[in-house]
Amino acid sequence: MTDANVAKAINEQINAELFSAYLYLAMSAKATAMGMPGVANWLFIQYQEETAHVQIFYKYLTRVGAPVVLKAIDQPPSEFGSALEIFEHVLSHEQKVTALIHNLVALARKHNDFAAENMLHWFVDEQVEEEENANDIIAQLKLAGTGSGLFMIDRELAARTFVPPSPLAAAAQ
Ligand code: MG
Repeated sequence: MTDANVAKAINEQINAELFSAYLYLAMSAKATAMGMPGVANWLFIQYQEETAHVQIFYKYLTRVGAPVVLKAIDQPPSEFGSALEIFEHVLSHEQKVTALIHNLVALARKHNDFAAENMLHWFVDEQVEEEENANDIIAQLKLAGTGSGLFMIDRELAARTFVPPSPLAAAAQ
């Protein structure tokens, strides 16, 4: 049994995660069009991760018998600038998501919803990783500049593969 206020906020988070997925899919398409298949791959996997985040929240709500109320997803931008500007956008977006997750934890605590708080702890760790990843790539891109440096980073980002997050595997059992 989840607190009704917490359930409502988790529904809003599902919408935020879907927007994140949409944003990264739009960025991935743009990177493909810009001739950066590695950047496009990294962003496409980011899109897949966001849809996995949606599934974790969705499965949590259905498991505790809370209502799922889906709302319209905002349209993402279609222009993002250079590779560096794309990853600066990724970082600022993830910082906003971190704040949303932290607000959710605070809300779960306020309403003594310990099950929701426990579920959210994975997302607290995940956001540390999301910001770290974006910061690392921004640092590399600043060092590399454009030309062959950017080409090398693009090849590195092509190696990223999608790994389903652990809470999804646990929920499937
Ligand atoms: Mg997410």
